[in-house]
Amino acid sequence: MIKKSVQDAINKQINAEIYSSYMYYSMAFWFESQNLAGFAHWMRIQALEELMHAQKFAGFVTERGGRVLMAAVDKPPTEWKSPLHCVEEVYKHECKVTALINGLMDLALKEKDHASVSFFNWFIDEQVEEEAGADAIVQKLKLMKDHNGGLFMLDRELDARTFTPLPEIAGAF
Ligand code: FE
Repeated sequence: MIKKSVQDAINKQINAEIYSSYMYYSMAFWFESQNLAGFAHWMRIQALEELMHAQKFAGFVTERGGRVLMAAVDKPPTEWKSPLHCVEEVYKHECKVTALINGLMDLALKEKDHASVSFFNWFIDEQVEEEAGADAIVQKLKLMKDHNGGLFMLDRELDARTFTPLPEIAGAF
């Protein structure tokens, strides 16, 4: 049985993951409005991945006899100054999420909840990828500065991203 303190903390994290998904959809629709369909595609996949994270957390709580409780989701931003500004916000957001996941791990260690420690490890590793993925796009945008040719090439590259559902929740997609 999961401890209430850990259950409550995971419920908060589920809300944060769903907010992340909502924010990435908002970014996707902004990129659509900027005629950058590849960036929009990348953001939509990002949004789906965040929903998967929420479901992965929810599955763990349920499996351990806890209860998943939904709360209100904050309104995400809807406008960004430029593609670079938007992707910089992605990077900053993922750094914040990393801090939240680290907080969950600290709690699991404090509670000597080894099952949660093991489960949260997946998310610790995932955040390394999330930060690196966003930073790679930021660096490319900085390199190309105002060269639109580079922007169109990057848009095409991002359009090639594929979505792979996690095996444990593949049936949900
Ligand atoms: Fe996530």
